[in-house]
Amino acid sequence: MTDGPARVAIVTGGARGIGRAIVLRLVRDGWSVAFTFRSSADAATSLAAEADAERLLALEGDVSDAERCAAIVDEVIARFGRVDALINNAGIRRDTLVYNMSDDDWSDVLRTNLDGAFHMTRAVLSPMMRQRSGSIVNVSSLSGLHAVVGQANYAASKAGLIALTRTLARECGRSGIRVNCVAPGLVATDMTAGMDPAAKSEMLKSIPMRRMVTADEVAAAIAFFLGNDSSGITGQTLCVDGGTTA
Ligand code: NAP
Repeated sequence: MTDGPARVAIVTGGARGIGRAIVLRLVRDGWSVAFTFRSSADAATSLAAEADAERLLALEGDVSDAERCAAIVDEVIARFGRVDALINNAGIRRDTLVYNMSDDDWSDVLRTNLDGAFHMTRAVLSPMMRQRSGSIVNVSSLSGLHAVVGQANYAASKAGLIALTRTLARECGRSGIRVNCVAPGLVATDMTAGMDPAAKSEMLKSIPMRRMVTADEVAAAIAFFLGNDSSGITGQTLCVDGGTTA
């Protein structure tokens, strides 16, 4: 991949939280960015106003819908002519102990976090293979590496993303496509806003840096994987977790 103004990225779940920080970072770095949203239409509109609207495309879509994912990639290519990067960021959690976990708690999380990444990835592989270049970054989680009580569904999806990353790196390396993963620790977004304050403060004590990481710090790790400074790196998972996994 070469640095330059023509690079085009797709960010899933880009209207808010970490996804929004990724979109803003990539626009700042000169990318054209298509981002998806599912329910946050107002946030998607405000993001288009905040960033350079000429280089932004907001697309509604649920990543658990394989047909919609394929259509999203077609729409991005129709608008920008190519796709150089995919960031599989969209995700949800439905925390509860396994003995209380409903089928929906399990499958909603797996369908969004893991199936969604699979659908989007499969859709970008043909254009990237034709170009013989591309970069895919999956947003996993510390929970995919380190057990957290109540997150079996989420952890399975996030560990699955790490395994997907490694397998894809082997499958796609010779096509010039790199696939990497970022595993954030605790980040202040809507996803963590509802956490029990006592549990949050306990978790903070276990972080060597004694603070949450920021969405911008996660976006910076993703920008590294998309840039030429990481041109020899594929199949890796980078923890952005204030040292929790050290
Ligand atoms: P967030 O603020 O809750 O945002 C979640 C994003 O995912 C939203 O943009 C949402 O879109 C999108 N989304 C959810 N379900 C979707 C679906 N079925 N189809 C399309 N988009 C969907 O969460 P966040 O903290 O920014 O998390 C972003 C990613 O980082 C997730 O994969 C999460 O697991 C991961 N992560 C977060 C933390 C943390 O501490 N926050 C830590 C580790 C990893 P709409 O709003 O449009 O519905």
